[in-house]
Amino acid sequence: MSGGGEGRGDISVGIMGGTFDPIHYGHLVTAEAARCEFKLDVVVFVPSGRPPHKKGYEVSSPRDRYIMTSLAVATNPYFEVSSIEIEREGPSYTIDTVREFRAKYGEEARLFFITGADATLEILTWKDANELLRLCSFIAATRPGYGLSRIQAGVRELQSRSPNRVYTLEVPALAISSTDIRRRVREDRPIRYLLPESVENYIMKMGLYKKV
Ligand code: NAP
Repeated sequence: MSGGGEGRGDISVGIMGGTFDPIHYGHLVTAEAARCEFKLDVVVFVPSGRPPHKKGYEVSSPRDRYIMTSLAVATNPYFEVSSIEIEREGPSYTIDTVREFRAKYGEEARLFFITGADATLEILTWKDANELLRLCSFIAATRPGYGLSRIQAGVRELQSRSPNRVYTLEVPALAISSTDIRRRVREDRPIRYLLPESVENYIMKMGLYKKV
């Protein structure tokens, strides 16, 4: 991200946060649905550098995830990729990212952090959660029917603390998951049509996800 303080009036910006290991059509459909529904001027994908909460599997290198994300968004003029979390030292806290976006786009900008519903329901446990909810709104993406009552209860609780700050978005394409894609590669099963061909080619060329 370039310099700070260049306020841009009432611009609406989507910040698409995720590990993106790998990015797939579920993520891309989510970003496009959020852009249209919330009238966003741009959606910036922010691959997380060192996820503070990831346990149980080795995440691919930030560089590989950044390259795959860049390949995936290249054909949409409203999509951009940011390397801020990859370049920042230490764990990737969302509050640091949102502060940088606020500084870049100014006080008047409307910021929407878009991510999976499960992650969104945890935001009260994230670093500086109250400031986070003051600085931006959240769009919790979920697939239809998936634990909806639990998610709605959690979202209602968040909304009661921070009115007009948390929204849900149902995305059927989120049936696709990064975990499933990694497993398929490991088992030599097809991943075609689950993610852009350019990303599939990169995974094969670099030999990602072959090891357990
Ligand atoms: P995760 O726990 O790996 O993902 C939870 C679920 O959400 C998975 O089903 C995942 O599917 C889906 N998902 C992830 N990103 C998505 C997106 N942008 N759009 C739609 N669905 C998405 O979540 P994560 O990727 O590690 O973290 C999500 C974001 O929250 C990241 O930006 C992370 O930095 C942030 N976060 C911040 C803190 C903190 O500041 N303390 C703590 C936790 C998370 P796939 O596996 O298919 O992607």
